[in-house]
Amino acid sequence: MTTETAPPRMRIVRHPLKYRLLEVRRVQRITPGTVRVTFGGEALEGFCEQAPTDHVKLCFAEPGADLPVEPVVENDTWMDAPDGMSEPLTRDYTIRHHRREQQEIDVDMVLHGTGVGSAWAGRAEPGMRLGVFGPRGSEELPFVHDWYLLGAEETALPALARWAEMLPAGVRVIAFAEVSGPEDEQQIESAADLTLTWLHRGDAPSGSTDLLERAIRAADLPAGLGFAWVAGEATSLKPIRRHLRRERGLSKDQVDVDGYWKRGVANHDHHEDDADHA
Ligand SMILES: Cc1cc2nc3c(=O)[nH]c(=O)nc-3n(C[C@H](O)[C@H](O)[C@H](O)COP(=O)(O)OP(=O)(O)OC[C@H]3O[C@@H](n4cnc5c(N)ncnc54)[C@H](O)[C@@H]3O)c2cc1C
Repeated sequence: MTTETAPPRMRIVRHPLKYRLLEVRRVQRITPGTVRVTFGGEALEGFCEQAPTDHVKLCFAEPGADLPVEPVVENDTWMDAPDGMSEPLTRDYTIRHHRREQQEIDVDMVLHGTGVGSAWAGRAEPGMRLGVFGPRGSEELPFVHDWYLLGAEETALPALARWAEMLPAGVRVIAFAEVSGPEDEQQIESAADLTLTWLHRGDAPSGSTDLLERAIRAADLPAGLGFAWVAGEATSLKPIRRHLRRERGLSKDQVDVDGYWKRGVANHDHHEDDADHA
């Protein structure tokens, strides 16, 4: 599907790079597989977030340590740790909510089994402290499109929900969300004309199915200028990116497919596939 109008470009708005040590205020099991952790503290003064995909690096303590290793920042740049010092132990998480007045953020953390992030989420309780680094920047997209296609599995549901909440009335939004079953579905609000279809993978491991790909291939996309955002397990997203670019004919400015994690890889770098975005 091609369009006559040149699509607007996503632009990165940089924020001052800051590390904050925050305290867990509340922990809520929002679905069987996801924990919402509310972090708070005066350190959140000046915290910036403004785009659906805004995320932070949560910094975890090394086994046996009380506090995380703090990232070294010089001239607004994240530096390597000095010789003999450990690098911070970090994982990326979306800012689900930011309540400026209360100096609180919510982060929805998937309990997937192994991994420092998942394990920490499983034992999180009020009073625990964690480092929050960033966000480094916001991916700002002018909301001028006629329609949006959104796709996610559990780790990208917080960002999908933010897209749905931020998109304005009058635009068509076709969204697909893969979860293990009906008990993992969440209520997602939108002023836009949203059709959200839940896809259930049942007992299949997360990131092992082609449910999102099949749903997106079969989607009846409207005419006009569109934008597609899909995030989840990196390998399963590759055919989706190819489909959107090659078969649907969307330009690179109309497609943002982001591998949030990769099966069998700890601490996957989601910028690894950036070359594929070209
Ligand atoms: C921009 C961005 C935003 C993100 N937002 C969120 C968010 O809001 N909430 C959230 O929960 N995650 C989010 N993620 C994904 C999260 O960073 C990864 O799932 C991360 O690997 C979790 O770290 P871990 O320490 O638990 O596991 P790791 O130590 O990184 O990995 C250990 C093992 O677990 C596997 N694994 C990792 N994640 C999963 C999973 N979801 N299901 C099954 N196996 C998995 C890995 O393949 C590896 O084999 C985001 C990622 C990015 C890049």
